[in-house]
Amino acid sequence: MSAPIRIELPTNLQVGSVNAYLFTEPEPVLIDTGLKMPESWAALLAGLQAHGVAVADLRRIVITHPHVDHCGQAGVLAEQCEAVIEVADVGYRWLIEFPEMWRKRIAYYQREFLPRVGFSPEVIGLVSGYMEQLVEVYAPLPKERVRPFASDGVLELGGMSWQVLYMPGHASTQTCFYQPETRQFIAADMLLPKTPTPIVERPSHGQSRQPALPIYLQSLDKVEALDIQTVYPGHGDPFTNHRQLIQKQRARIQLRKEECYTLIQNGHHTVLELLMKMYAHYPEQIRFAGLWMLVGYLDLLKADGLIIEKEINGVWHYETRN
Ligand SMILES: [Zn+2]
Repeated sequence: MSAPIRIELPTNLQVGSVNAYLFTEPEPVLIDTGLKMPESWAALLAGLQAHGVAVADLRRIVITHPHVDHCGQAGVLAEQCEAVIEVADVGYRWLIEFPEMWRKRIAYYQREFLPRVGFSPEVIGLVSGYMEQLVEVYAPLPKERVRPFASDGVLELGGMSWQVLYMPGHASTQTCFYQPETRQFIAADMLLPKTPTPIVERPSHGQSRQPALPIYLQSLDKVEALDIQTVYPGHGDPFTNHRQLIQKQRARIQLRKEECYTLIQNGHHTVLELLMKMYAHYPEQIRFAGLWMLVGYLDLLKADGLIIEKEINGVWHYETRN
């Protein structure tokens, strides 16, 4: 049996390094690629070479989810090998149209999401400026080389059949890969040593925003039910005991959700006010990084029927039901 070989790639993002995984037999297949940047390229080449693989040898490049740290370098690889690039049907459009999709998300954040959160135009400008930079670490992909697979299908990797499992929450486009005989789980950013952020996605036309953290918790239940020996996460070291980690992360979410509820009871009504309280331990300039979890706690409290959301002067206000 062969296990995925981890190749750790540096990023310039807050998340730290990202993992690519390599299978060398029966054909060289790479899972995820890292960002398009020189340090990441050097680390990838070194990692491949350490296992006797040159870029030109790669036959397939599989993308777990079209976030830039996982797919940004795929276009660079595609120029230097003949590999087919594979992504789940749910991620196909994002992968091939990343810059356009990303700009649409930025526009949604600028016009709808961030103003309702209560951010000032200045902060909205800072956040969108940061987001705009991320297009630069994505290399355009040749569309004709990209082949979608079914998000409930099967992938052959390392001479074994892996179940594709659709796992939305961190991203609505995310798939994980599970190998039942060897109990290996390629987790993407579904299960990480540190709870992944439930990213707010732009709603489809005419629809309301999907509550990402409640969806993430449903996916987490599915992962917990799997019989897993080793988890190969998108960030951080591979690990065992996935159920222990899941219980810990769920307990933490529950605790933070209760803290959020107490703050609302005590008169903090907007997302911005809650963010300043809930993430007081973060330096102010990166406090917005807590936004996705916080919106998630609010989505959970809404789903529990404990709070109601009102829009006042274009800003969401939360109040307890009692
Ligand atoms: Zn990631």
